[in-house]
Amino acid sequence: MRERKNELAPCGVFCGACPSYNKTCVGCSTENKDQKRTSKWSCKVRNCCYLEQKKNYCIECDKFPCRILKKKIIDTHPEEENFKYRHEIPEVFEKAIKMNIEDFLEYQKKRWSCPSCGGIINFYKYTCSECGKKVIV
Ligand SMILES: [Zn+2]
Repeated sequence: MRERKNELAPCGVFCGACPSYNKTCVGCSTENKDQKRTSKWSCKVRNCCYLEQKKNYCIECDKFPCRILKKKIIDTHPEEENFKYRHEIPEVFEKAIKMNIEDFLEYQKKRWSCPSCGGIINFYKYTCSECGKKVIV
């Protein structure tokens, strides 16, 4: 089984580019209860992956991308550019099957870094959290 990384959610979302990461949430992958944001505990995808399938990432599952992942993440907010980080999961997370998880994380970190200043791009706004520049990921 692939090692769990704090910046990477079981569903494939890159927590590292979430505006809540390291503020009100320590990432979907941790079991640390010491965070304000509570939504991850009831997430059906997270619960299926960790508790039912006993895997660390949905891509390790034969059913990827399954009905739950599509309904809860991939197919939500269709046509909305701000949710591209969800819609792209089948295509982007698929790459992690061939890469090791460290390389995949590096790839994601690079994608979500501002080309001008190196700041983290907020995945809802596609805007750099440091310099405010609009970035196409
Ligand atoms: Zn920037």
